[in-house]
Amino acid sequence: MIDARSTDRPAPDRPRLTVDLDALARNYARLRQASGAAETAAVVKADAYGLGAEPAARRLLKEGCRTFFTAAADEAAKVRAIASEADIYVFNGLLEGEEGRFASLGLSPVLNEPAQLARWLATPAVGRPKPPAALFLDSGMNRLGFSPSQLDEALSGGGFRGDEIGLVLSHFACASIPAHPMNADQIARFAALLPLVRAAFPKARASIANSAGIFLGPEARFDLTRPGIALYGGGPCDDRSVGMEAVATLDAPILQVRDLAPGERVGYGADCTLDRPVRAATVALGYADGFLRATGGRGYGVLQGRRAPILGRVSMDLITLDVSRCGPAARPGALVEMLGANALLDDQAEAAGTANYELLVRLGSRMARSWLGAGA
Ligand SMILES: *Cc1c(COP(=O)(O)O)cnc(C)c1O
Repeated sequence: MIDARSTDRPAPDRPRLTVDLDALARNYARLRQASGAAETAAVVKADAYGLGAEPAARRLLKEGCRTFFTAAADEAAKVRAIASEADIYVFNGLLEGEEGRFASLGLSPVLNEPAQLARWLATPAVGRPKPPAALFLDSGMNRLGFSPSQLDEALSGGGFRGDEIGLVLSHFACASIPAHPMNADQIARFAALLPLVRAAFPKARASIANSAGIFLGPEARFDLTRPGIALYGGGPCDDRSVGMEAVATLDAPILQVRDLAPGERVGYGADCTLDRPVRAATVALGYADGFLRATGGRGYGVLQGRRAPILGRVSMDLITLDVSRCGPAARPGALVEMLGANALLDDQAEAAGTANYELLVRLGSRMARSWLGAGA
């Protein structure tokens, strides 16, 4: 079934982002296979990395995904509105005053310190059974989570029913570098803490693997994996050893085409001086759309299967491309792919000197988005 839905009708002079939910489903299937016997959850924080948390979650539900993670409670509430039965975990934890919302929506906080555990234990059920929460253990990243001594302190008193915690989490600092020694170190630290947690909460399942963690081997998978970037088409490993299918396609319309002689300069700062005759096309896309300025002079578009390198700097709303190799297809109104199956997310991120994560999340907020595929 092909179906399309748009929040905004794409204007002819604006870039547009198309999200292929069938590709998302194929990436999920691949990650599920790679996760072996572990359950494969989905991380849909930051509006599913800019691609739309609601359509993404709706499609993933259809594919059998039952567990979702968000950063913030507001994001989780949106997922709850379309997934009445799913387990929904909130990484940011349980801050004071939020107890009622978590309980009434059946959201599971990821508890990051002893005070949060105490707060959750004291929270009464509101209109529905209180879901089990998760405990987040710091295994060396020092960002969020219980330190080993905080865990000792929190569990030593006992007095738990045993079903209050359903999941124990940690997170890799260096999973995108498979050979990094910190990976094995974190797995060992995490595994060493599990018996302590399970003495108090016997049913607690364990999870440490993000997208890249899934590919570190079976000892990293535990009971549940939680991919984000790989679902959305980002290669999870720095060495590009795992390639995912593109989910987001960014197309930018050509506004004007001009033929330039050697010696002509292009764009702000006159950074780019041509050493040959060039047919240049200026497209409606810029850093105001979230297309990082750092791609200037290094990124590229693709038109008719041909690469069109970015000439000079990226402006707020414009980019000039060298379309010399693109033939007659380079004309005003034509769409140039700036991200997708041909203009690779991982290439553009590398051109910008950043992570594929950052490039993706910045695009979603201002741009017209549409969703393709079953469930759109
Ligand atoms: C974002 C996040 C994930 C998903 O990470 P990816 O690298 O995008 O797969 C998993 N766990 C935690 C705690 C996260 O913050």
